[in-house]
Amino acid sequence: MPAYTAPVDDMLFVLGDLLDTGTVLAALGGEEVPLSLMGEVLGEAGRFCEKVAQPLNRSGDEEGCVLENGIVRTPKGFPGAYAAFVEAGWPGLAHAPEYGGQGLPRVLQLLFDEMLSSANFSFGLFPGLTRGAVEAIERHATEELKALYLPPMVEGRWMGAMALTEAQAGTDLGLLRSRAEPQADGSYRVTGSKIFISAGDHDLSENIIHLVLARLPDAPPGVKGISLFLVPKFIPDAAGQAGARNGVSAGSIEHKMGLKASPTCVMHYDAARGWLVGAPHQGLRAMFTMMNAERLFVGIQGLGIAEAAYQGASTYARERLQGRAPGAATGAAQSILVHPDVRKMLLTIRAFTESGRALAAWTALEMEKAARHPDPDARAKADGMVALLTPVIKAAFTDLGFESAVLGQQVFGGHGYVREWGMEQLVRDGRIAQIYEGTNGVQAMDLVGRKLFQDGGALPRAFFAEIRATLAAGGDPDIVTPLAEALDRLEAATAALVGRGTADPAEIGAAATDYLRFFALVALGWMWARMAALPGGRRHAAKQALARFFMARILPQTLALDRALAAGAAPLMAMEEADF
Ligand SMILES: Cc1cc2nc3c(=O)[nH]c(=O)nc-3n(C[C@H](O)[C@H](O)[C@H](O)COP(=O)(O)OP(=O)(O)OC[C@H]3O[C@@H](n4cnc5c(N)ncnc54)[C@H](O)[C@@H]3O)c2cc1C
Repeated sequence: MPAYTAPVDDMLFVLGDLLDTGTVLAALGGEEVPLSLMGEVLGEAGRFCEKVAQPLNRSGDEEGCVLENGIVRTPKGFPGAYAAFVEAGWPGLAHAPEYGGQGLPRVLQLLFDEMLSSANFSFGLFPGLTRGAVEAIERHATEELKALYLPPMVEGRWMGAMALTEAQAGTDLGLLRSRAEPQADGSYRVTGSKIFISAGDHDLSENIIHLVLARLPDAPPGVKGISLFLVPKFIPDAAGQAGARNGVSAGSIEHKMGLKASPTCVMHYDAARGWLVGAPHQGLRAMFTMMNAERLFVGIQGLGIAEAAYQGASTYARERLQGRAPGAATGAAQSILVHPDVRKMLLTIRAFTESGRALAAWTALEMEKAARHPDPDARAKADGMVALLTPVIKAAFTDLGFESAVLGQQVFGGHGYVREWGMEQLVRDGRIAQIYEGTNGVQAMDLVGRKLFQDGGALPRAFFAEIRATLAAGGDPDIVTPLAEALDRLEAATAALVGRGTADPAEIGAAATDYLRFFALVALGWMWARMAALPGGRRHAAKQALARFFMARILPQTLALDRALAAGAAPLMAMEEADF
């Protein structure tokens, strides 16, 4: 099993040299957060991931979760590790001080999420879900519900779960059937069964707060008739402690390809007491607060998997002796790093991890601006950037994360396929991130069908202008020229797609996944251009080499994507349904 070392140095490079986070945050007001403090927090977070979370990764995968006498048990060591996580105050890192959080910048949370996802993907999902639930409750619930539920959730004593999916309602939530009956005391009785509910039940926390989508008796059909309910496993007593058991139970847990230490539950709600969150029939809107937070988090899971794959594969490649450098006919076997194809695999992963980390951190700063900038126009612009990049980060980072895990496994040859080295677990764990939280195909539909059209195309226009501003500053022609050309192509493809999509909606679905990858490659290239332009010593040489590799060997994929996009929907729609 390869060891994991938290990449704190590169994270500080992103926060300090690249994004000048301290200055950006200072301009938004609030307490100053010096880089040295961010370094201390990330250092501590890294130690937790290296020393507590990562050692449980393999055993958690082998042991999995079990449902015993109606209670889900997590693998050995998980409850203790979670208790240590709570004890150290990690659940409240970026939550509001009003509810007991530390109010630190979101970008620190995001970097911690990356580390946790690298060290122990399953473990990291538990707090990731709780955070999303906290955000949805904070934004949409009544003051009374917030006061009762948020402090123990922010503290980590109570955790969250997100209950949307039903057997007949996956992507299409308009089909869901769970029902909620209003009660005289203002609460509701929620009845229905949900499937695939991550952390629906477990033994890590005193209580589990389910955010459940259900229909009121007078609900119109489809997505306009869905409401959101807060349904606790234990109903809080008068002292605000977990009290009587509610009608919430786990029927079974799924046996899955990976993510084995995270219980994926069939959940039954049997006239369970619940409380409305947000307005009646507006549940999807409220749930989107949680889903958007989770989508960014899931993208970061992809990044974390890629980082773990790189660390394992680069260490192995340095030590594995097979063959000799091209042209060296004789002599002792050399490290497989002499082989161009092995280098290509490692460089491909790292070209993603470092630019992905930078793009995600940039987006987290946009989230801060969207929440706190004094100028409403700047807030709206930043909000637009986050909306535009959320599906891109979710889908592209999880696709690239999975591809990176497979490349890392390939570097190990046959040893990557056997369990011993841990690479096959990265492949199995990372795969889910492309599927849950809205499949990547659906993310691409969100980008192309919604975000490109929003406000007359203002979102992509504003993002492309940011890239143009970087290009206007000039730089190494081997780096800025390919990026400028790819951006030209992307802008032209965007305009053409908006035109075609307006005339024929099938064009949107036909283009979506190719377009999203095209967009993501240009966005990552933007980060490479910015990073390569920074002065520095040894790190600078590596960043330059990676930026050149990205421009020469990865970005040209946009040429093929552009060509495929231009072919439109016709080749996809031509075959008769009966011929499939
Ligand atoms: C391990 C695991 C954990 C999960 N955790 C949770 C959880 O905590 N809470 C929760 O509520 N759910 C959870 N899910 C459910 C998950 O979010 C869904 O599986 C996912 O959204 C897809 O729904 P589906 O499986 O019904 O696939 P379907 O919706 O049936 O999709 C099948 C295929 O059709 C495509 N498709 C469907 N509709 C469209 C469309 N309009 N446009 C283009 N393509 C389309 C999809 O991309 C996919 O390729 C989890 C699932 C798993 C496996």
